[in-house]
Amino acid sequence: MIKNKFKDVPFFDYPSVYKRHKKEFLRIFNDVCSKGAFIMQSELLDFEKNLANYTNSKYAIGVANATDGLQMLLLAAGIKPYDEVIISSHTMIATAGAVHFSGGIPVPINAGKDHLIDVEEIESAITSKTKAIMPTQLNGRVADMDSITKIARKYDLMIFEDSAQALGAKYKGVSAGNFGLGGCISFYPAKVLGCFGDGGAVICNDDEIYEKLILLRDHGRGKSSDVEIWGLNSRLDNLQAAFLNFGLSQYEKAINRRRAIAKIYDERLGTLDEIVIPPTQNGDLNHFDIYQNYEIEANDRDNLKSFLKENGVGTLVQWGGFPIHSFEKLGFTKQLEHTEKLFKKLLMLPLNLTVTDNDIHYVCDMIKKFYQ
Ligand SMILES: *Cc1c(COP(=O)(O)O)cnc(C)c1O
Repeated sequence: MIKNKFKDVPFFDYPSVYKRHKKEFLRIFNDVCSKGAFIMQSELLDFEKNLANYTNSKYAIGVANATDGLQMLLLAAGIKPYDEVIISSHTMIATAGAVHFSGGIPVPINAGKDHLIDVEEIESAITSKTKAIMPTQLNGRVADMDSITKIARKYDLMIFEDSAQALGAKYKGVSAGNFGLGGCISFYPAKVLGCFGDGGAVICNDDEIYEKLILLRDHGRGKSSDVEIWGLNSRLDNLQAAFLNFGLSQYEKAINRRRAIAKIYDERLGTLDEIVIPPTQNGDLNHFDIYQNYEIEANDRDNLKSFLKENGVGTLVQWGGFPIHSFEKLGFTKQLEHTEKLFKKLLMLPLNLTVTDNDIHYVCDMIKKFYQ
């Protein structure tokens, strides 16, 4: 099977974000810059409209990054000092940081079998101070939102989504960001819809939250330049919005390709005893995954990672291998045994728009060779 003795399959090829559609991007750059349309112009409005359409939500609000978006969403929904927000420990520190800077207290719990928040553990983490559940729609998959919604109703909790990794991912036909009061989307370059730097959006369906977010992202300034509330400066650049508008028009194709790559991995690696693959596409039809990441559980993970590196294959351990509850300097003291065990095995394989089918087969060949 092994055709090339040595291949280079990088985990992510940053220049490719630009190179794939260089001509189009140069045209957009020239167009927007020539007009001097840099802050909150028609390109931003267009993008917000297209994004809301794509996710089937009432509103999309462009912001400087997904982390800001989450924080402003929590503020807009009225999270107050010492309110507890339940999150998964398998997420970016951004999720917890957004809760912290809204005044709340992030409460991490274990990740479950699908690596997303363990819905079975949510109830036992609820206290009299709990105000919200904020699942991370990790790796381009939406959590079991029926169970989460049921718990939220029972205890009168709000739902927010860290859907930074999940633009276009669906649960029972509903796109990430639409299950609670809102969700963030990240346009960090390595995200499925990446821009040329930082960028983000908030998806929401609530008029009041929308109005607040529009104020919050622009110094609290209303239409008449009157300042109505304390706000931040967290706008999505008009130029980035113009690039993203183009990216969104190519997005469906990108997702299809990602799902095709994931299928090759599933078929080639699903039979190995040493590896647990992510949930498959036909395993539970309630889920439509966009594969922001292809995250496996691997025996002898560190040696596998080194072996792949020696053979030209780039891999990545998400969050540098640190779950939220492990950050003692931030005051986390909880032990989450299951997540700690899981984090010794997690590894992300290359899945991006520059790899060929051949590259993926080479990665699989190398993994099989390692375990032989
Ligand atoms: C990327 C990411 C973020 C942060 O997004 P930014 O746009 O970089 O702020 C938050 N949460 C998760 C799960 C992410 O993957």
